[in-house]
Amino acid sequence: MTVHKYVIVGGGQAAASACEGIRQIDSSGSILVITDEEYLPHQRPPLSKSYLAGKAGLDKVMVHDESYYAENNIEVMTGVSATRISRRGRKVALDSGSTVEYEELLLATGGRAWRLPLSGAELPGVFTLRTIENSDAIRAAAEEAEEAVVIGGSFIGCEVAATLTQLGVHVTMCFLEEYPLQAVAPPELGGHIREIFEDEGIRVIPTMRPERIVGDERIEAVHLENGEVVACDMAVMGVGVRLNTQLARDADLDLTDFSAIAVDEMLRTSDPHIWAAGDIAAWPDPHYERRLRVEHWDVARAQGEQAGRNMAGASEPYTVVPYFFSDIFDLSFEVWGDLVDWDQTVTRGSLEEESVSYWYFRDEILVGVLALGRPDDERDPMEQLVARGLKYDDVAEALQDTDQSLDDLM
Ligand SMILES: Cc1cc2nc3c(=O)[nH]c(=O)nc-3n(C[C@H](O)[C@H](O)[C@H](O)COP(=O)(O)OP(=O)(O)OC[C@H]3O[C@@H](n4cnc5c(N)ncnc54)[C@H](O)[C@@H]3O)c2cc1C
Repeated sequence: MTVHKYVIVGGGQAAASACEGIRQIDSSGSILVITDEEYLPHQRPPLSKSYLAGKAGLDKVMVHDESYYAENNIEVMTGVSATRISRRGRKVALDSGSTVEYEELLLATGGRAWRLPLSGAELPGVFTLRTIENSDAIRAAAEEAEEAVVIGGSFIGCEVAATLTQLGVHVTMCFLEEYPLQAVAPPELGGHIREIFEDEGIRVIPTMRPERIVGDERIEAVHLENGEVVACDMAVMGVGVRLNTQLARDADLDLTDFSAIAVDEMLRTSDPHIWAAGDIAAWPDPHYERRLRVEHWDVARAQGEQAGRNMAGASEPYTVVPYFFSDIFDLSFEVWGDLVDWDQTVTRGSLEEESVSYWYFRDEILVGVLALGRPDDERDPMEQLVARGLKYDDVAEALQDTDQSLDDLM
């Protein structure tokens, strides 16, 4: 049996960043990364954007190339799944039949795409998108397709609809919400995105559920709940993820609702030698004073790095304000904070000029900001103002006044 000081289970952004975090503190302790994917640890944002469009290669998807792991004395096992954790013996069993021993273990197992359990959902030509193979398969299908249906109006659905359109496929989008990105965008912005989609030739069908998918050998049409039949050559479902936390459940680690792994402010689980980071980790956030769990790239990056540092003895709490970005056609969004629950927004700038930020308040407290085309020097203050949880009455007027610098509000 091999013994490693650090074992990391996962092949996404959190796993890659954890290697960096460990090496910032411990230059020599042995590190083993176990991933069930066939690739080195990689990031996923390009899989719905530049990589799917064929504009970026795999080198833009990998977080580090092979030389990084060799130079930093990190062993990566690809195509191997961790099947069981034995906490008492600090061992991880692998599907290859072998077992590895750890001093500190990081779970960074992320999520897998959810497939709606519709009749016909398994037909060839019906895709979900999480992996490099999924992105390759969607691009290959798009080369042959004329008509695609995208199911889902959140980020993955919107990004895939935009990229397929750029690849020359006519897209029909259907989703449950009233407008695209409804979970994070105020109605004015949602309406603007819908207009952009329609100008680009996408047919947008809001508040609509797909009922079944039909086809003989492969997909031929999606039947909607209003009886309409949308003929198509392919469909992509962007309808959310299920977390890969069965390992943690079987090991009796504390979980939260939605099967996330509960960690403390150091990103440590209920076992002192097991840590968790990225999509699967629910951490006690100091700004919102409640547990957050976020499925975004930057959270996986920052938590992976912090967990790595703490596994190596740093003992630093995780206090980063959640951040994410998305690119849809020419629109680039950035978001700081937690936009899950808000009841009021304040607008700074102009949506017509595509230079706008929306400031989100819950119970009169600032909880987040979404920015689109705002000047670069507003980025830092945005993050810091959100971290401070300012009161509506104290800042609403000043935020709307673009002549007033955000620095003044600090
Ligand atoms: C197509 C796409 C586009 C995205 N775009 C954006 C974006 O623009 N902006 C943004 O902020 N976020 C984006 N995201 C979200 C972001 O990619 C995720 O939040 C991020 O991937 C989470 O990283 P992670 O390391 O926690 O998990 P993951 O990336 O899911 O990695 C988990 C890894 O663990 C492996 N694994 C699981 N179980 C086991 C096991 N038992 N044994 C071995 N290995 C295992 C998995 O195969 C995988 O390699 C996007 C996601 C997708 C899918």
